[in-house]
Amino acid sequence: MSSARTPHFPAVRARRARVHASHSGSIELASRASVQRQAPVWLFDLDNTLHDASYKIFPEINISMTAAVMESLNVDEPTANILRTKYWKRYGATMIGMVRHHNIRAHDFLHRSHRFDVRPLIRAEKGLAFKLNQLPGRKVLVTNAPLHYARAVLKHLGILRCFDSLWGVEQMKLHGHFRPKPSVTMMRHILAHEGVHPKRAILVEDTLENLRGARAAGLRTVHVFHPGTPFSHGKNGRPDFVDLRVKNVGHLLLRKHPVRGTF
Ligand SMILES: [Mg+2]
Repeated sequence: MSSARTPHFPAVRARRARVHASHSGSIELASRASVQRQAPVWLFDLDNTLHDASYKIFPEINISMTAAVMESLNVDEPTANILRTKYWKRYGATMIGMVRHHNIRAHDFLHRSHRFDVRPLIRAEKGLAFKLNQLPGRKVLVTNAPLHYARAVLKHLGILRCFDSLWGVEQMKLHGHFRPKPSVTMMRHILAHEGVHPKRAILVEDTLENLRGARAAGLRTVHVFHPGTPFSHGKNGRPDFVDLRVKNVGHLLLRKHPVRGTF
């Protein structure tokens, strides 16, 4: 696991280290380290949390995902659509079904299914880098999307450097099996790998099922409401596994004490 993800983020971490270096010596660095130990660790989802994926990206992914299934299995479009739906419902990701049932390499399929320029398709709230930097504590990206896509989106949003580490679906593999969100086991694994106690971690996310999984792993949760996310309304208001509901990241900052005990 660690060997798979290590090559992807040291550059980000190194740049952050330089940005935070100061001339005032070790005392300031020590006190900063102490604050970092106390501060919460924010786990951010990507799609429909940090940007509006429903606007143009999800429709594009739909097209390229179907094309990727057709190309990988040499099937027609209706068959590809049936398989996509079946695997998405059963495993939470089409890619997992393609790997399990057709021996397709995850890396190849993820590249085929996300082979488009994200830049003209992105829509997001303004000032995201500033807003994220206002939130005390480390930020970690945890997305069920492929890493190359996540990096491209974060880069275009100007927030890649806000994150200490990135977890894409390729990294969510345990004992040879993919375990994307809402896997409780994977969430515990991520926290252990990041060296964070669940009580210090907060998942910020638009998908309620993923927040339910995070709560089962002991995290606190922030629901970013997005009207394009399936089942985002909840049946009876705010579910008991959601600590806070917001409209966007800016809205999270406006709350004086966003999530109890974090500040
Ligand atoms: Mg999402």
